[in-house]
Amino acid sequence: MNIPILESAQGTHVFIGGKSYLNMCSNNYLGLANEPRIKKSAINSIKQYGVGTTSVRPLIGTNILHIQLEKQLAGFKKTEDALVLTGGYLANLAVVQTLLSKEDIIVSDEYNHASIIDAIRLSQVRNKFIYSHNNINHLKSLLPQINKLQKIPKNDGTYPKTMIISDGVFSMDGDIANVPQLVTIAKQIGAILVIDDAHGEGVLGNHGRGIVDHFGLHNQVDIEVGTLSKAFGVIGGFITGKKQLIDQLRKARQFLFTNGLTIPDTAALVESVNILTESDERVRQLWQNATLLKNGLKNLGFNIGESQTPITPVIVGEESSAQYLAKSLFDEGIIVSAITFPMVEKGKARLRLIPSSLHTQADIETVITTLKKVGSEYALK
Ligand SMILES: *Cc1c(COP(=O)(O)O)cnc(C)c1O
Repeated sequence: MNIPILESAQGTHVFIGGKSYLNMCSNNYLGLANEPRIKKSAINSIKQYGVGTTSVRPLIGTNILHIQLEKQLAGFKKTEDALVLTGGYLANLAVVQTLLSKEDIIVSDEYNHASIIDAIRLSQVRNKFIYSHNNINHLKSLLPQINKLQKIPKNDGTYPKTMIISDGVFSMDGDIANVPQLVTIAKQIGAILVIDDAHGEGVLGNHGRGIVDHFGLHNQVDIEVGTLSKAFGVIGGFITGKKQLIDQLRKARQFLFTNGLTIPDTAALVESVNILTESDERVRQLWQNATLLKNGLKNLGFNIGESQTPITPVIVGEESSAQYLAKSLFDEGIIVSAITFPMVEKGKARLRLIPSSLHTQADIETVITTLKKVGSEYALK
């Protein structure tokens, strides 16, 4: 299918080609992308401060709103400090490239997001260990090799640093990383633990504080990478953690050599964080909708995998089946994503449904009955 072009705001219903569609595939988990309070904050900020920053942050491109947002995010995540960049993708590049060099060691889950894979490439780290997806036993089996490398001094005489990096929520299956075990292993081998919480923020934990809050592991994960373009509803990425590490990241090339967020983006995000901090109503509504959707599909016999989050895969196997089903749903007025190779392995093609807090019970029921109508033949085997 062609890229859908929206003629309306992002929301539970969107206009494409003059027609209204029920939207089941954006990452607008909490419906904040078109929230009036957030829009008002952006508009007011433009009146006061204009639009662009016209300089990189360290020169003259930092507005008080950037500082306010970073303070709020550090508070929201219950960490010492935060740094905001223009995307989650860039945030991963910044973390890996800045903290590691060629002779260091990185340990990464095989299903990690593309931005982590690219970050590892960019850092040119030579000692790479990729463990089977969420397989702690496999990770443990790599430790003797890692220990050996850790004892070989680098050219400058110091010993290599080790980083363990994982998505918190895996975006294709909706399963979550075993963060408690990763914390234990990171401590055991003296590694920096980095968790990318892009699909956890606004979803997991108290008030949507994310996966570290979900597991009650505050201050035990060295760095959390986040995105401001999913549940937070705007654009941007951020990094939270210990002050000493965040200070190091203020020297990241992704901070020094590209402009920061625009004024309205930043003001909008200040209000997003306010909304999440004030109430967990949207998060609870999201989970209610997710449970309704998953139970409905499971009861009909669809294979919805092992998701532990609102991300709802409908696994069909064949690429052509996934594409056929997405097209059939589109013809019925529902828009979902077909996820195929290389986003998932061959033979594991699927639809991916993502409910938002704003969907009504009727919206969710429409999706279930329509999938039953168009999908029985392809997905119910
Ligand atoms: C979406 C996503 C990103 C990228 O975030 P952007 O802000 O869109 O650049 C990074 N990591 C994970 C795990 C993601 O799901």
